[in-house]
Amino acid sequence: MTARSPDLLDDTKDLLAKLVSFDTTSRNSNLPIIDFIEDYLATYGVASTRVPDETGEKSSLFATIGPENATGIALSAHTDVVPVDGQDWDTDPFTLTEKGSRLYGRGACDMKGFVACVMAHVPQFAQRQLKTPIHIAFSYDEEVGCTGVRPMIAQMGDRLIKPRMVIVGEPTSMMVVDAHKGPVRWSVDIAGRPAHSSMAPLGVNTIAVAAELIAELSRIEIDLKEVRDERFDPPYTTLQVTEIKGGNASNIVPAATWFGWEIRAMPGADPDAIEGRLRARAQALLPAMREVAPEADIVIRRTNDVPAFAADPESEVLSLSLKLAGQNETFAVSYATEASLFQNAGASSVVCGPGDIAQAHTANEWIEIDELDKCLGFLGRVGDWAEGNA
Ligand SMILES: [Zn+2]
Repeated sequence: MTARSPDLLDDTKDLLAKLVSFDTTSRNSNLPIIDFIEDYLATYGVASTRVPDETGEKSSLFATIGPENATGIALSAHTDVVPVDGQDWDTDPFTLTEKGSRLYGRGACDMKGFVACVMAHVPQFAQRQLKTPIHIAFSYDEEVGCTGVRPMIAQMGDRLIKPRMVIVGEPTSMMVVDAHKGPVRWSVDIAGRPAHSSMAPLGVNTIAVAAELIAELSRIEIDLKEVRDERFDPPYTTLQVTEIKGGNASNIVPAATWFGWEIRAMPGADPDAIEGRLRARAQALLPAMREVAPEADIVIRRTNDVPAFAADPESEVLSLSLKLAGQNETFAVSYATEASLFQNAGASSVVCGPGDIAQAHTANEWIEIDELDKCLGFLGRVGDWAEGNA
């Protein structure tokens, strides 16, 4: 085990304080924090590449420390955070506040703590004679559907080196997570025809159609519960309607209804087949609707799609992270990360990072300082490994 500089934890706290001070709520530009990280890396001779979004208001940052002609291990994190709107904080969410053994601030846990640990190690990584490169992959818009990382992944193997392994540092209390569920979301717009409610047959009642579709979703939900994997909590793919809006007045046949629904798919669940069942039900309902109103329609759109994640049990990154974390057991979680997106792009992945997911997204979000210390130890061993292995 490498002896860590006693200043490393202090450096990490300072970096985390700076990172937390940027309000990187997903609706905001993340360019100020990217400028800061880019400048910091440059101080240690590490060049980075930006992958901006279409608006130019947001960017991912990719950097390689060590040989440029080899594939290495990427440390992946998102720079955005969830809003503090409506949350009751005891301290300023954008001022990192140390109290006892904890550091409080928006993103302290999810997941600027990991970003700070990676950055604190950069001076050491840059000094070492790495045989295997360490890549840094910092993205945006993770909290709104893992969207920001996708353009960066698309450029891997082309403008960017494709890592052969990825560690996603989402909060796992430094456990090695090798599986997670995938959130897939849909919106359903139903168009009917209004009528005076005393003349109901002249209209197409879209709330009634929504009820039929939702009843089908309830049947699908029951079927999904049949397939169980006890590693997950809850141990099956969940399905639920999350939002609904329809009707304008108590005496008008409602001509428009909209609802949103989601699944949290376990690995192996088939979102296309689930969507197909709802589409089949919609097709069965449409003829009667169109007999009254030819313009009647049911439009089903997929609005979010993060695949479920299952690491390859034989993968190098899985055995390596277990070894470096000093563990022999892996875990499955119900929240989603970009691990599945990397994995599906051919870069085998695991999730392992400091902090407890229970503190993510909450008011008074905090991270144990000890978690940062554990992560620093882990990253130090990543450095040892990268130096010693071709
Ligand atoms: Zn996160």
